[in-house]
Amino acid sequence: MSQSTTTTGSPAEANTATFPAATVLGYPRIGPNRELKRALESFWAARTDVPALEDAAATLRTRTRARLAELGLARTGGAVPEASSFYDQVLDASYALGALPARFDGLAGLDLYFAAARGTSGDAGERAPLEMTKWFDTNYHYLVPEIGPGTTFRLDASRFVGPVREAAAEGLDTRPVVVGPVTYLLLSKAADDAPAGFEPLSRLGDLLPVYAELLRELRAAGASWVQLDESGLVADHLLDTATVSPADVHAAVKAAYRALATDLAAGVDRPAILLQASYGDLGTAWPVVAATDVEAVAVDLVRGALPAAPVPGLETKTVVAGVVDGHNIWRADLGAKADLVDAVAAATGAGAVAVGTSTSLQHVPHDVEPESWDDGTAAGAELDANLHAWLAFADQKVGEVVALGTALTDGRDAVADVLAAASAAVAGRRDAAGVRVDAVRARTAALQPGDFERGAHAERVTAQRERLGLPALPTTTIGSFPQTVEIRRARAAHARGELTTDAYEQAMRDEIARVVTLQEELGLDVLVHGEAERNDMVQYFAELLDGFAVTTNGWVQSYGSRCTRPSILWGDVSRPEPMTVRWAQYAQSLTEKPVKGMLTGPVTIMAWSFVRDDVPLAETANQIGLALRDEVVDLEAAGIAVVQVDEPALRELLPLRQADQAAYLDWSVGSFRLATAGVRPDTQVHTHLCYSEFGEVIGAIDGLDADVTSIEAARSRMEVVPELQDAGFSRGVGPGVYDIHSPRVPSVAEVTELLELAVKSVDPNLLWVNPDCGLKTRGYAETTPSLAHLVEAAHAVRATL
Ligand code: GLN
Ligand code: ZN
Repeated sequence: MSQSTTTTGSPAEANTATFPAATVLGYPRIGPNRELKRALESFWAARTDVPALEDAAATLRTRTRARLAELGLARTGGAVPEASSFYDQVLDASYALGALPARFDGLAGLDLYFAAARGTSGDAGERAPLEMTKWFDTNYHYLVPEIGPGTTFRLDASRFVGPVREAAAEGLDTRPVVVGPVTYLLLSKAADDAPAGFEPLSRLGDLLPVYAELLRELRAAGASWVQLDESGLVADHLLDTATVSPADVHAAVKAAYRALATDLAAGVDRPAILLQASYGDLGTAWPVVAATDVEAVAVDLVRGALPAAPVPGLETKTVVAGVVDGHNIWRADLGAKADLVDAVAAATGAGAVAVGTSTSLQHVPHDVEPESWDDGTAAGAELDANLHAWLAFADQKVGEVVALGTALTDGRDAVADVLAAASAAVAGRRDAAGVRVDAVRARTAALQPGDFERGAHAERVTAQRERLGLPALPTTTIGSFPQTVEIRRARAAHARGELTTDAYEQAMRDEIARVVTLQEELGLDVLVHGEAERNDMVQYFAELLDGFAVTTNGWVQSYGSRCTRPSILWGDVSRPEPMTVRWAQYAQSLTEKPVKGMLTGPVTIMAWSFVRDDVPLAETANQIGLALRDEVVDLEAAGIAVVQVDEPALRELLPLRQADQAAYLDWSVGSFRLATAGVRPDTQVHTHLCYSEFGEVIGAIDGLDADVTSIEAARSRMEVVPELQDAGFSRGVGPGVYDIHSPRVPSVAEVTELLELAVKSVDPNLLWVNPDCGLKTRGYAETTPSLAHLVEAAHAVRATL
């Protein structure tokens, strides 16, 4: 790949770096066959040691670099990003900055790193892990830094510098990717011991010298470019608007890049800086980044727009046009993208233009090539041909930016056949059967306001109380029970055809019976069937609904070693037949206690799938809402008295800019109501949201009109309960009383204390007792005692009422 972009009239005289014509902002890091997941999990299970883990990670990094070069990225000039991580890029920054909280003092190296990620217990000492929250509007979770007035910053650049050296030894000049200083602090929360009103961003001045030192070390290791991720610039959701305004963020960026770009002798002491702003529109931040002395700016031109007029300052910079969607899997219409790339120079006034992805590719699977949808049927063969033509995973996207880069440097004729093939694929997708189904469109078009209404909440409360007869502080779980090795083995054997469907289903019924018995023994009040038959809470439904396809190896990192396999929503959605009814009915037949029917809500199904880019999200949400509504009504008819519709992703899809949020909340909340409003007043609707920091969605939670809402609360010590009450929420609430993300077993005293905190701010008649989330990733060794403690604590607090 030629590097023909030129930087005109750079003021940073010493810096002669030109940015390569094509790049990607990041690449999947879990490995094409989840090599990193396996290496991490064997290390955590103490089956392997540190050198084995380091080896596996280094092998994967080498493979990634080789693959990116093979796909056409330049080996030099910083075209290949170095964006690997053992767990999380924000944790990597915390570790490198020496900014981990005091409870981890005394630990070092990977012990420190993984303790911060996962907590420690037993002989290693009791330490809570860092809190985890969603990364921008994705389903990736990062570990939230805890910053206080006393946090000290001390550089340990080893985990960034090592891979740069390693690449140099392979003759590759990689571009390390680091969370930028302003975004790092915006992503942070105030440490527990910080005074009220403390803002992590106030520590910027102390942080910058450490970043400056990091840049010098990266340069010394041979990096010609560094990528600093300042996506905080495009997001309002990180701002605690009471204390930090967009203007404060702009001022912080100005100060930060004066220190990092201007004050450090350019080109000598530091690598050239690519300032990245992904996941949204730069908007009023265009002049801010243009006024810095960084050498290049990467902008998201999938979510964001070009500025209204050229921006003074950009004439000395390269604008990396993020035209290839890093966050979705559709093959790009390369002709249209090339037009957009061609418009960038004039629209922005940039000195040079390069082609990039809109975001890191960490949000898409590695490679579409090995996937097959051909199941031997004619429909399977058609789907297989279609999806191979329509989809682009990470490797295909690298090919797209490379082709667009060639079009930019050598003219479109040089890649005419690639552009033509892309256009043909886009046209073929538009016209293919199943993409638009008239019967589905007719049903969504006929929806009336009444279809979204359930009737007065107060009447429902009375009717449900009568029907269910539950005690105060009823105990329940979020739905899934541990997915044991036996369950997964049975599913795999069934998939391979070694276990008949009858035998598989019998195994699942046996598991349900076991889980129901266990819950009765534990004394839980509202039972679940345990979700043994579900491989995943979204994929399970995607396999049963029309309009979706699933992958066999399309893994995407969710957090740490956890991966999900997002389904692909390619056509109009409908439900050919009931999906969960017989399982719920079977579980209910085994017990006198109510069993919750368990469904995944429309927004979550969409958020954890790759959604269509050819119809409005609101239309898809209503299609799924109607399919689920039919299921909810069928569950009720089958005798199920409590139905839970999980919407853990409600906040995730929230647009990052405030101005877009109302419209989103309208359709998302509407689709939940559409799914749940078909039942009688005495049927209790639950929902589950995985997180506790509601921010802008707090009003929407009430708008869902669910009778009971369970949320995460243990790590934040029930803080959310008074917050919800302050926001006027007056329905049933189940703040999680223990954190299921760690194997720690909470003591009865601990759970009791949390419940006592909760009853201080919520009417005990509204309070439910449950864990933070589903138990599928836990083992029985910790699940059984944890739930026993939960029930015991609930009884203890119940007795004091
Ligand atoms: N019902 C699901 C479960 O328990 C909910 C999981 C989730 O919210 N992520 O597994
Ligand atoms: Zn959850």
